[in-house]
Amino acid sequence: MPTPNEIPLSRPDITAREEELVLAVLRSGRLSIGPMVERFEQLVAHRSGCRFGIAVNSGTSGLHLVMSSLGIAQGHEVITTPFSFIASANCILFQRAIPKLVDIDPVSLNMDPLAVEAAINSRTKAIVGVATFGSLTHMDLYAKIADANGIALVEDCCEAMGATLGGQAAGSFGTAGVFGFYPNKQITTGEGGMVVTNDSGVAELCRSLRNQGRPIGTPPTSQTTSTTGSHMGSWLKHERLGYNYRLSEVNAAIGVGQMERLDAILAKRNSVAHMYHQRLADIGWLTSLRPQSSGTMSWFVYIVELAKEFSLAQRDAIIRSLREQNIGAADYFPCIHLQPFYSRQFGFRPGMFPVAESVAERTIALPFYNDLTESEVDRIVQALRRAGESVKTKRRAA
Ligand SMILES: *Cc1c(COP(=O)(O)O)cnc(C)c1O
Repeated sequence: MPTPNEIPLSRPDITAREEELVLAVLRSGRLSIGPMVERFEQLVAHRSGCRFGIAVNSGTSGLHLVMSSLGIAQGHEVITTPFSFIASANCILFQRAIPKLVDIDPVSLNMDPLAVEAAINSRTKAIVGVATFGSLTHMDLYAKIADANGIALVEDCCEAMGATLGGQAAGSFGTAGVFGFYPNKQITTGEGGMVVTNDSGVAELCRSLRNQGRPIGTPPTSQTTSTTGSHMGSWLKHERLGYNYRLSEVNAAIGVGQMERLDAILAKRNSVAHMYHQRLADIGWLTSLRPQSSGTMSWFVYIVELAKEFSLAQRDAIIRSLREQNIGAADYFPCIHLQPFYSRQFGFRPGMFPVAESVAERTIALPFYNDLTESEVDRIVQALRRAGESVKTKRRAA
């Protein structure tokens, strides 16, 4: 249990509506492969402007299914960012393909489109474009680059539910988009994810791969199918190497409740971001991440970037100080290429992606969730201000 004065880094927003939907599922006797998953799929697909939604048990599973359905395999190269959650690169490794990392643009924190273009060669099969911290900046350019080169764009919009760019919704820019519903995301299902796409072939393959490689078109009737041998139909037929990445009806019910409230949730997050903006505006030694392009950012976390004069040790001292005052803060994100197993396997070294490394060493994620109050934001900003000033003074004294 959190102590009374603890402000966590994030907190899910679950209402009586989600409870009601979950209870209905529990009482229905149908806990997997049922109508709630389909409802959830329709809601997310519709919101992202896509024809198909394929619910899965995590965002990572969704990315894996898309990679597999695109035929990404050993020897292929896939371009992605070093500044992200590990899953956006791991999905390339699941298929034994090679992650071709490119540096980020220091303002949007998404991949630099020029670097993406420069990284393409004859082995390149796809780009995994990440909408970092809920910003779709450059996603349209990644789509153009992918098109021009005859490769796929996979949109990792796990942090961007509800975001738009030029009037176009997150999830609809690439061959497929993937959302994540872990409890720190804009909406949650506990654990869960969703592939969205307009490509019926990708949709069918993802459905099959999600469901143990059962034939495309297998009716979702496991529980009602007769178990007397020959009547099993296609349920026990496996046409390809598949997985069990299904989302349960219970989890989908939470997701339906959350999607029904999505606009209210996004509005709350916007207003929390605004509270931070106002209170941080006069601090000269940090900048906040702001939407840079013609779209709506969907706030995932609230990130501040310390000025270049701050060292990694000083940043970590600030995070420690906040935590000592029961304020959740984190170092989002450590660079993927410097994770031990990436540097071991691919020989990545510090200095290879200087912009990503510099940003990763100076960013702090502050507490961010729908019901964060004005007085809590005051307390957080005051603690951050003090910790930052004290770290700067110590440096001058030293
Ligand atoms: C959250 C997230 C994912 C998926 O995470 P899961 O925990 O597997 O749902 C993938 N990519 C990014 C960038 C994320 O932030």
